[in-house]
Amino acid sequence: MSKNKPVKFTLTIDIQCGGCGSLLHQGEGFPKFCPCCGAGLERYCLRCQRKAEMFFEEWWPQDDHCIRTYSPAKRCSRCNAVLEMEGENRNQDKEEYHN
Ligand SMILES: [Zn+2]
Ligand SMILES: [Zn+2]
Repeated sequence: MSKNKPVKFTLTIDIQCGGCGSLLHQGEGFPKFCPCCGAGLERYCLRCQRKAEMFFEEWWPQDDHCIRTYSPAKRCSRCNAVLEMEGENRNQDKEEYHN
């Protein structure tokens, strides 16, 4: 196994939806919503009011080809709070409005 990574390599970026698991191919920038199920791909931490970074895994099918798969963060990288799905938050908002 060689440790020398080629200087020039192809980077493919995929985004995996946390809701339905579909794999999206990145075009211009990151999509905010999954085109399949409409789930938000960005997560915001309610505790520190910041956008949580997506995490990614890399693999190299060839020496000069890297595939990076991003998934929505399940926990905040700063305060480690569990990040909820958007749909669950919406239901809670409705209940609060009721009172
Ligand atoms: Zn989806
Ligand atoms: Zn946080």
